[in-house]
Amino acid sequence: MNEIKHTVRPEDTLIPALGPAKIVNPLTTMKAPEKRGFTFLDDDSARVLINPYSCEPDADGNLPASLEKAGPRRHIYFDPTKLKAAIVTCGGMCPGINSLVRSIVLQLYYMYGVRNIVGVRYGLQGFIPSYGHDFIDLNPKTVQSIHGRGGSFLGMSRGPQPMDEIVDTLERQNIGLLFMIGGDGTLHAAQSIHQEITNRGLKIGLVAIPKTIDNDICFVEMTFGFQTAVEAATRAILGAHNEAEGAPNGLGLVKLMGRHSGFVAAHATLALTEVNFCLVPEVDFDLDGPNGLLQALNNRMTARGHAVVVVAEGAGQKFFHTDHAEKDPSGNVRLGDIGTYLRDRFSAHFADQGVELNQKYIDPSYMVRSVPANSGDRIFTGFLGHHAVHAGMSGRTGLLISLWNNHYVHAPIPLAICHRKKIDPCGGLWRAVLESTGQPSLKNEA
Ligand code: ATP
Ligand code: MG
Repeated sequence: MNEIKHTVRPEDTLIPALGPAKIVNPLTTMKAPEKRGFTFLDDDSARVLINPYSCEPDADGNLPASLEKAGPRRHIYFDPTKLKAAIVTCGGMCPGINSLVRSIVLQLYYMYGVRNIVGVRYGLQGFIPSYGHDFIDLNPKTVQSIHGRGGSFLGMSRGPQPMDEIVDTLERQNIGLLFMIGGDGTLHAAQSIHQEITNRGLKIGLVAIPKTIDNDICFVEMTFGFQTAVEAATRAILGAHNEAEGAPNGLGLVKLMGRHSGFVAAHATLALTEVNFCLVPEVDFDLDGPNGLLQALNNRMTARGHAVVVVAEGAGQKFFHTDHAEKDPSGNVRLGDIGTYLRDRFSAHFADQGVELNQKYIDPSYMVRSVPANSGDRIFTGFLGHHAVHAGMSGRTGLLISLWNNHYVHAPIPLAICHRKKIDPCGGLWRAVLESTGQPSLKNEA
């Protein structure tokens, strides 16, 4: 469900280019490429509407905002025989990273004939010589079996690195095209690197592929790994429900990923309609008071004798309010642990009433993010990798590959990082969650 409420001007959607693409794309030389599904998008009118429901020009006569369609172009910017391409993966793990790396490598190698491809080890650290992480050669053999594995083959890291040193390394190593795989932090880093490349007048292309298990990037309908994460989360909820049903006053509490956006929690709730309370960062709730969660839990136990609560890690942060929030190496605020906090409050609440509570607390977070991608996400990463290579080879830069209204598109990085995608508490997704759980407002004041 794409729910974009802010105004997007046509100029916000323009994709920068390194220069005119003059080299005939080797894909055009294959026999009947159109019959093999290669439609070359040389016409700039191949675009996808941002809001499919608005087809009328606005009050100033401007056409509705749209994003450029992804796909092969008849002419490319880089000479494949001379190009050196690099791939880096940053931030935290997410199912599908390895199959995405493999897809980029195979597309560069087999479809475009690029033979010089390197992998950068451990995120942005890999660009900084003092860490001593050497690049690794990537080719069909080195990526042969990585797609079936979870985790990250190249390694990842958090923490800031100097942009000028990163671009020094790109220059020194003659890298012409950089693929960056990462979340919101990585996209900010990508924009700074792109800016530094532009300031130095270098012809280095930069294509980002958004990776975030939280699915919280603007202008990205769904990130890869999300479906796998929801599936893994669903298994944890099923376990919690079985535990809850199997004991008097059984309570299953599951904590899921979702620092600012509760999409994993919301989708897993919809996937397994056994959840009675779904708590996400976007929707405030009270614990105490007549309408608070503790009273609602009492009511549920009286009525049904068991309950399942799902909480996203960023929910209920008001219970930890502090002026001196700790930060991780990348500058992200360390969240209060809402899972163990709720577990302890639930136990104390029922103990105070002298009522037996059989609570099982499940925190599957690291299992959810490091599992191998399911087949849906593997297919998805295949498409993302192919389109990233088409975009990069055409000389487009400073963009990310996105799925939008069921089409693969190019979105300028600044557009994707200007807002964070969140669940709209008044939108259709949250309404479906409320319908599924039947939970009350959990707020004492309306
Ligand atoms: P995840 O979804 O796992 O959080 P992420 O890409 O957001 O992924 P981060 O650790 O926040 O993960 O960032 C990845 C890298 O980008 C880190 O090396 C971090 O220091 C760098 N980075 C984050 N924010 C910025 C920024 N504003 N400018 C430059 N670099 C940044
Ligand atoms: Mg992040």
